Amino acid sequence: MKLHILGTGNGGALNCYNTCFAIENNEEYLLVDGGGGNQILNQLKLANIDITKIHNIFLSHNHTDHILGVIWVLRNVCQKMSFGGSYIGNLNIYGSDKSMKVLKLLIELLFPMVKQFEDRILFNVVDDKQMVKINDMNFTFFDIHAKKDKQFGFVIDDKLAFCGDEPLKEDLFDFAKNKEWLIHESFCLDNEEEIYKSHQKGHCTVKEASITAQTINAKNLIILHTEDNDLKNRKKLYTNEAKKYFNGNIYVPNDLEVLIV
Ligand SMILES: [Zn+2]
Repeated sequence: MKLHILGTGNGGALNCYNTCFAIENNEEYLLVDGGGGNQILNQLKLANIDITKIHNIFLSHNHTDHILGVIWVLRNVCQKMSFGGSYIGNLNIYGSDKSMKVLKLLIELLFPMVKQFEDRILFNVVDDKQMVKINDMNFTFFDIHAKKDKQFGFVIDDKLAFCGDEPLKEDLFDFAKNKEWLIHESFCLDNEEEIYKSHQKGHCTVKEASITAQTINAKNLIILHTEDNDLKNRKKLYTNEAKKYFNGNIYVPNDLEVLIV
């Protein structure tokens, strides 16, 4: 299984793309969020991911920096279903009832051609703790009890936990514990809290994410959804802070890095 990190920035990122990634298994991809615009198409191209091999998309929530890129992917899929027919099969999209409602509404308003493919572009509302098999991986989707908006994350067996776009809440520690990989947001370094105000924005610092990773006994921590003012030093600075609080392996990827998980 490979993680193709397509974007690593927060919602206001200008120097890297907004956080989204693709999980590759058996030469098929699940896209997790789409970032905030048509740059997703370029990121997929740079990552050598053929859109015709994306038959599953998971949308964590409806914020602009996560949902609008999905719109561009859907537009592209529709074109590939129509002209030349290079897209074979169905596209399954997963998310909360609210996410599916917003996404459906947007695409119906923005490109009504999608109507032609309503039997092939399928919106799957998932419930809290619902299990779904995708590309031979066993996903359990879960409500992350987000402060800001309804939002879902997922675990894949004992392999991986993705906490969505907010710090993992304590009442979910048991559910997400003992995973090999934890994907957790961190907005900034701890001593930058005054500048970036991660808490007010419903996010946390590298220190706080690392303490969570240690508490729930993750083996590897992947930090995403960060500010992007010092990308040259981000990996080094974030890793050094995380090391103080977490004993496992720490990954602070740049856009387009690939992790073997
Ligand atoms: Zn975000």
